[in-house]
Amino acid sequence: MYSQNEDLKSKLKAAHQSLTKARLLVFDTIQLHGPLSMNELVSRTDSQIDRATVYRVVDLFEQLEIVSKLQIGWKYKLELSGQFSSHHHHLTCLNCSKIIDIEPSETIEKAIAEMANAQGFKLKAHQLEITGICQNCQQKDPGI
Ligand SMILES: [Zn+2]
Ligand SMILES: [Zn+2]
Repeated sequence: MYSQNEDLKSKLKAAHQSLTKARLLVFDTIQLHGPLSMNELVSRTDSQIDRATVYRVVDLFEQLEIVSKLQIGWKYKLELSGQFSSHHHHLTCLNCSKIIDIEPSETIEKAIAEMANAQGFKLKAHQLEITGICQNCQQKDPGI
């Protein structure tokens, strides 16, 4: 797998920050297991770093646009953003909170650009959230 550590290092360096062990751990954990809620992130890293450190690293990563908050209802999950993430959309299961990444469809991407253009709007980014019930949950409870 292609390692993004060098990119992370230069991004931090540009902000006069260094790549510490804690920062690398948070980055790797989100990269491998994201999107993650703050609690999930803390429980996956708490054998090595404490909660306060995780919060500080996430704050820094948000400022530097390494990580962004994916809003799901009134909760959020953390995922890599900008240069560290390729553009994709999400299907979120309302029952088990599982998030499935989906490839962007050309039709949808084009439609969004056209809608923005029609308003003379300079498009910077978009999120598209689709909620429903995943296959697993439907199998467990067909009446759901
Ligand atoms: Zn589900
Ligand atoms: Zn899109």
